[in-house]
Amino acid sequence: MHDKSIPFEAAIKWIKKETRDTATYALKVKSRDIQKGYRFIPGQFNMLYVPGIGEAPVSISSAPSDQDLMHTVRVAGDVTTALSHLKAGDVIGMRGPFGRGWPFEETGGLDILIVAGGLGIAPLRSVVRHILRTKKMAGAHSRRMLFYGAKTPKDIIFRNEFPRYREVFEVLLTVDRADPEERWRGETGLVTKLFDRAALDSLRTIAFVCGPEVMMQTSVRELILRGVPEERIFLSLERNMNCGVGLCGHCFFGPKFVCRDGPVFRFSEIEGLMGIKEL
Ligand SMILES: Cc1cc2nc3c(=O)[nH]c(=O)nc-3n(C[C@H](O)[C@H](O)[C@H](O)COP(=O)(O)OP(=O)(O)OC[C@H]3O[C@@H](n4cnc5c(N)ncnc54)[C@H](O)[C@@H]3O)c2cc1C
Repeated sequence: MHDKSIPFEAAIKWIKKETRDTATYALKVKSRDIQKGYRFIPGQFNMLYVPGIGEAPVSISSAPSDQDLMHTVRVAGDVTTALSHLKAGDVIGMRGPFGRGWPFEETGGLDILIVAGGLGIAPLRSVVRHILRTKKMAGAHSRRMLFYGAKTPKDIIFRNEFPRYREVFEVLLTVDRADPEERWRGETGLVTKLFDRAALDSLRTIAFVCGPEVMMQTSVRELILRGVPEERIFLSLERNMNCGVGLCGHCFFGPKFVCRDGPVFRFSEIEGLMGIKEL
């Protein structure tokens, strides 16, 4: 096993611009030995290090069975801006994978509902792509649903992949604001509006939710109101973090470390910390 406290080199294989401020980076770990032993599960993240600038935690947006290791990054501050100036062939540092991913072991026989807001679809794309492969192979009977909300049609990430997702998922999209130039014919409104568009069999639903905190709070509320058991609602949280291994304390969330105990949490584990008003 490689030492996760020391960055190893990864070359940028290709970059795909997703939206105005977001791009997907395919990385190739340079050391053959590390590459061979590198395994992750959807929902885990890496620390990406831009030499001379610093590092930032970024979710893995590809599936374990994808040929390329991908990260989808929105420009926010120093590290992500520096990353956005790099090109294919450039080399960055990487540490990981870190954290607890989505609990696939709990999905058996259940309907999977994925609820994503904005860039929150990045760690969930790993799940979707994983299911596209395994579902096709296993031929399971359960329903797969994806609810996704973006600010405007131009902010929809992975837009060209949605036709493929529809082969296995019931996909419902919404945007906060429809731009008249885009001739958007879909839904407008918050992602929670989509709960009225698909009847859930709540007692056999497991939900994976990721997006801005307020979107997660309202989505959890909808899920609970519809009878989805709290133990079957999972959220991926974001907090500032430094070490990635539960030592430095930057990402404390109550008694938990987001980097080590999360970023994926069962709602019932963090219920008291989420600030969701009484139902
Ligand atoms: C587990 C986990 C997974 C994550 N996954 C992803 C992912 O898949 N993709 C992704 O893009 N991000 C992801 N993030 C978020 C990412 O780590 C942060 O955005 C990170 O802080 C970016 O580093 P930075 O140095 O570019 O920005 P920082 O300098 O750390 O800036 C962070 C914040 O400060 C604000 N800020 C920075 N500079 C200024 C300024 N000059 N004026 C006003 N505001 C400013 C930014 O708007 C931003 O909100 C994840 C975070 C966690 C914890």
